[in-house]
Amino acid sequence: MRSAVLVAAGLVPALILSGCTIGDAGQRRDAAAPTSLSLSEPGLVNNAAPLAAGSLTGKKIFLDPGHNGANDGSLSRQVPTGRGGTKDCQTTGTTGVNGLAEHTFNYAVAYQLYQVLTGAGAQVMMSRNDDKSVGSCVDARAEAANKWGADAAVSIHADGSAPGNRGFHVNLSDPPLNPAQTTASPALAKSLRDALVSGGFTPAAYIGKDGLYPRSDLAGLNLATVPSVLVEAGNLKDPAEAATFASPQGQQRLAQAVAAGLAAYLGGGQTR
Ligand SMILES: [Zn+2]
Repeated sequence: MRSAVLVAAGLVPALILSGCTIGDAGQRRDAAAPTSLSLSEPGLVNNAAPLAAGSLTGKKIFLDPGHNGANDGSLSRQVPTGRGGTKDCQTTGTTGVNGLAEHTFNYAVAYQLYQVLTGAGAQVMMSRNDDKSVGSCVDARAEAANKWGADAAVSIHADGSAPGNRGFHVNLSDPPLNPAQTTASPALAKSLRDALVSGGFTPAAYIGKDGLYPRSDLAGLNLATVPSVLVEAGNLKDPAEAATFASPQGQQRLAQAVAAGLAAYLGGGQTR
């Protein structure tokens, strides 16, 4: 079954203007450039500290809350990996030991980021505009950020590793496939890593090194021609981390840290 992407009426012109239809209409779904987000999503709050007003004016930031609010038969459709192979259109994401759905966590954090970043004057495009419907494939999300010419693209995820494995890791494409991946993406990754450490988060000891995980298997990063990273905030299969990320305080702290890292990378945005 195909579900229509739900957009608020005010978002439709942006959806049309964004021009992100990429073949196979109805299979790959468009990433819309919202003028505002639906406020009807239950439980969404923004309690993250604002950045200085105007400090990100003119910056274009692509936010990808990983996975979808719902999934359908297109999940296993094969899309390019960016390194010559194919992989599934999308995955379902993990579920925390406390029942927290990763896609919901990702969206809640991205929602706060959207508010903070737009509050600082940035233009923000989201890969999906709700946590109810089927979103676009991983390759289409990368292409939307590329076509838009994002100054930075960040995917928000949480891991599903073994209990006891804790900490964050920031993923980046490696070996790099284009100039943006050679210098800009590593700089963005380090900026986010440093901001996460400053925000009280611990780099993962079970994967990557020093909070960074250069890798070749993530299509969204391989296909990026703009600075692009994927943040695995922590491990939802670990009870302590699942509790942190289910809490408003944990989500707030994460959003603040990612916003600070983006602001540092983009050259502005001191916390008020
Ligand atoms: Zn994920």
